[in-house]
Amino acid sequence: MNVLVTGGAGYIGSHAVRRLLAGGYGVAVLDNLYRGHRGAVPDGVPLIEADLRQTDVVEQALAEHKIDCVMHFAALAYVGESVTEPLTYYDNNTAGTVSLLRAMDAQGVRRLVFSSTCATYGEPESMPIVETMPQSPINPYGWSKLFVERVLTDYADASKDFAFAALRYFNVAGSASDGSIGEDHEPETHIIPVLLNVALGKVPKMTVFGDDYATPDGTCVRDYIHVEDLVDAHAVVMDALKPGEQRFYNLGIGQGRSVKELIDAAREVTGHAIPADKGPRRAGDPPMLYANADKIRNELGWSAKITDIKQTIETAWRWFEANPDGYGAK
Ligand code: UDP
Repeated sequence: MNVLVTGGAGYIGSHAVRRLLAGGYGVAVLDNLYRGHRGAVPDGVPLIEADLRQTDVVEQALAEHKIDCVMHFAALAYVGESVTEPLTYYDNNTAGTVSLLRAMDAQGVRRLVFSSTCATYGEPESMPIVETMPQSPINPYGWSKLFVERVLTDYADASKDFAFAALRYFNVAGSASDGSIGEDHEPETHIIPVLLNVALGKVPKMTVFGDDYATPDGTCVRDYIHVEDLVDAHAVVMDALKPGEQRFYNLGIGQGRSVKELIDAAREVTGHAIPADKGPRRAGDPPMLYANADKIRNELGWSAKITDIKQTIETAWRWFEANPDGYGAK
């Protein structure tokens, strides 16, 4: 089976590429390299440097590489940026996916696994989050992904055999366990890379965004899923998808960790002091977000293997220590 990985030069997509190669699938990558890295694509894997909105180029790639299924990671994913540049997010994430679907439609590619997000739920009234809870995003990023879920549903309803899965990610973290690829974002705002950049001495200190939340230790709680577990779930879901099916799953470990727990774990893993200041709350941060991850376990027998946050941070640290400048000029 041949899989086109959109955004395959990015953080999560590049881990998916390796998982697919290890599973014996044929793989091609489509990435506009706006935030992806050429160095994240393994030698020998075709890289089509194109934007999703170039429908004819995407169509050609589907045909040339005899694609059976698309894993669709390519997207912009900064919440703050989506607030200041909503049109860029709707154009890239939502219209980009419509263009991809047009290309798939024209080429008869009938299967798609889509990177959705827990940001589609907005601020749920209770935890953990179950897939059936109302979806009401609180920022354009979340809306741009929820609109895609809607587009996929309508398109699948209208066509007999198109099948898709929308996977709603919680906080994706960690790196390939062999340290070969990892996270390299500019700007970097995610907590684990921020902590590790402080450990490396690249940033003098980190700031805790609020310690007066109604959570056990006052800091925000999130569900951190290891990137290798996450991409493993994609392969499991892809293999399970039957023509005409529409599946929606949360991808998390089903447990929350606080900012304070992460700081302690990062100090232990790195052996560095990691100075941390208390700062004000960051706008738009819900106090607690964690998944109920039962649905995918019950239906497909998949659950995250790595649930120890130290283990997740260890893999990320391996990458950061070996590649303090990320992919650099690679
Ligand atoms: N956070 C923090 N300091 C930082 C970065 C993040 O205290 O420098 C907190 C943030 O408020 C949130 C959690 O860490 O509660 C995870 O934030 P991140 O940006 O990694 O992911 P998000 O949950 O926003 O997608």
